Amino acid sequence: MSWGYSEADGPLHWVLYYEAAAGPHQSPIDIKTATTEYDPQLGYHPLRIEHTRQYDLEVENNGHSFQADVDESSTISGGPLGDAKYHLKQFHFHWGSSDLKGSEHKVDGKQYSAELHFVHWNATKYSTFDDAADKEDGLAVLGVFIKVGQANEEFKKLTDVMHEVHNPHTTTHVKTMFDSRYLLPGNVDKYWTYPGSLTTPPCYESVTWILLEEAICLSHTQLMHLRHLIGGYHGDSHGGYHEDNILNNVRTINPLGDRVVKASFPTKT
Ligand SMILES: [Zn+2]
Repeated sequence: MSWGYSEADGPLHWVLYYEAAAGPHQSPIDIKTATTEYDPQLGYHPLRIEHTRQYDLEVENNGHSFQADVDESSTISGGPLGDAKYHLKQFHFHWGSSDLKGSEHKVDGKQYSAELHFVHWNATKYSTFDDAADKEDGLAVLGVFIKVGQANEEFKKLTDVMHEVHNPHTTTHVKTMFDSRYLLPGNVDKYWTYPGSLTTPPCYESVTWILLEEAICLSHTQLMHLRHLIGGYHGDSHGGYHEDNILNNVRTINPLGDRVVKASFPTKT
C-alpha cells in the first residue's frame, strides 16, 4: 500500500494498512526531560558507535526521504544494547518545509529543523536485516537532532550529488570518501533511550531508540537542498501535472504510554 505524509495518505491513514502502527509503543515521542529517568548503568557500559568511512557510498531518493545505503562495516553496541552488535544498514533524514520544524522527536515540545536516523540491526541474534526488522530487539536507531547553523562539510558531499536523485526512486553514488562520523555531535555520551518503533510503515515495534542530546548543525542552504527533492507527482483538474517536493516527512507524535525514557546523564532540575 502506498503511503506518504499528505492529508490523503499521511500518518493517520497508516493504521488502516499497517497493523503495527496502532500499537502501544510507537515513535516518535515528545521527550519530557523532567520525567526521564537517569540510569547510571548506561554510563558504566558506554555506547560504542563504531562507524567507518566509506568510498562510493550509494544514496537514493526513495520518494519519502534521502537515504544512504551503507556497506555493513559500521556497528553500534553498548549502552542499552548490551553486548549485541548492531550493524548499520542505512541512514536517512526527516525535515520540514521551513527551519522551524522537521524533527520527528521533540524535546520538551521543541521541534528541531531536521532529524537524522542511523538504522542498525541486531546481527548478533539475527541473520539479516529483514529477519530482525520486526523483532522486539531487532533494530537500534541512533537519532541525531539537526539545527540551523554552520554548514557541515561532510554533508556537502551529499548535497553535491543530490541533483542526481532529484526525482523519486533514483540512486547515485558519492564518488569520494564519505565519513558519517562527521554527522555526529562532539558529545555522544549524553543520550535518551526508549523502546519504540519505526516511524514509517510498517511501523514495527522493534526499535531501541537512542537519541543524542547534542544536536549537529546544517546550514539553511543545506536544508533547502533536501526540500528541493521530489517525492511524487499529482495531476490537477485541468490535465496539468505537478511535482510534489518531499516536505515535512515527519510522523505525528505518539503517546509514551507505559514506557520510560532513560537518560544516560542526570537531568538538571
Ligand atoms: Zn527515520
